[in-house]
Amino acid sequence: MTRPLASLGNYRRIVIKIGSALLVDRGAGLKTEWLEAICDDIAALRARGVEVLVVSSGAIALGRTVLGLPAGALKLEESQAAAAVGQIALARHWSESLSRSSIVAGQILLTLGDTEERRRYLNARATISQLLKLGAVPIINENDTVATTEIRYGDNDRLAARVATMTGADLLILLSDIDGLYTAPPHLDPAAEFLPVIAEITPEIEAMAGGAASELSRGGMRTKIDAGKIATSAGCAMIITSGKPLNPLKGIDDGARHSWFAPSATPVTARKTWIAGQLQPAGILTVDAGAETALRAGKSLLPAGVRDVSGQFLRGDTISVVGLEGREIARGLAGYDADEARRIAGHKSREIEALLGYAGRSAMIHRDDLVMTETAAKRGDAKTKKDEAHA
Ligand code: GLU
Repeated sequence: MTRPLASLGNYRRIVIKIGSALLVDRGAGLKTEWLEAICDDIAALRARGVEVLVVSSGAIALGRTVLGLPAGALKLEESQAAAAVGQIALARHWSESLSRSSIVAGQILLTLGDTEERRRYLNARATISQLLKLGAVPIINENDTVATTEIRYGDNDRLAARVATMTGADLLILLSDIDGLYTAPPHLDPAAEFLPVIAEITPEIEAMAGGAASELSRGGMRTKIDAGKIATSAGCAMIITSGKPLNPLKGIDDGARHSWFAPSATPVTARKTWIAGQLQPAGILTVDAGAETALRAGKSLLPAGVRDVSGQFLRGDTISVVGLEGREIARGLAGYDADEARRIAGHKSREIEALLGYAGRSAMIHRDDLVMTETAAKRGDAKTKKDEAHA
């Protein structure tokens, strides 16, 4: 397994995700001292030649403080309004604090579509790399004022992981209110053990994540592990550490407690990373056992092995491939529109011309457009003790 690098200065490009609770105090507003300290950390990293991107939460928390909205859950339009007020203030604070070290900040607001639709993804990526080339620090958040429930990330953990894979970062740091991953939630279970290094995100590791989230931060450990899966499968390492002390990045190098997730030794290509990381596949193909075996052997998915087609997708959309019992095996780009896929499902490739009236491609999903999404451990399907304990 790869080992953690000796210091953050050894990484080339780092994405730092900052949770709302670290930046915003519900009574006093923005925590200026904390922000200025992390900007000093960022300046120190840049002086060592590391490129830094920040995914900063806090727009909604800051906006609701400025607007004096009551505690408790907000309605969608209230959180959108809070984000509009909060984001402008958040960006100003970042820009001013970084300028103390003569660093220029650039604001990027993303929605799900910007990372999930290939063309928009390429656009967003180009803008971010141009900012880095010009020496600016991108300050990224979800565009909460326009994102509605169906089309939003909702948590910045997974957004930060998508930014990390999109920009080819080699490290993602999630600054949180907890200092890393434990075998069980430490506030509930005194026997919980801390895990300093996670070689692979197995179902057992996923089961340790629990579900906690607070009013200020959307993501609990669950979304952090999801973020880890997105990042590590693309060859990007991940660190979870507490952001509560001042200068938490310097803290990592000084030995502060943190969990380090190893990057996959065989990262999939950028194109396949993009396919696997899609959050909302447009449809589902259910395949038989023979097709499952063929896919695992690296073959294309042929119409003959497809038992059922659900969803309305177009050729080129990302779709999910599931086994007969409904477990996802792979994802890929559809070779056919959904209605054509329904007509040829279960048929031999040589019958396609007679069925559709033209000689289409022989594969429902070509192997180059297909990526396996199950882990080796999942394939065994055996429930672990921890799965049961957390069920
Ligand atoms: N985008 C949200 C905000 O800036 C935060 C989401 C999260 O807490 O992960 O307020």
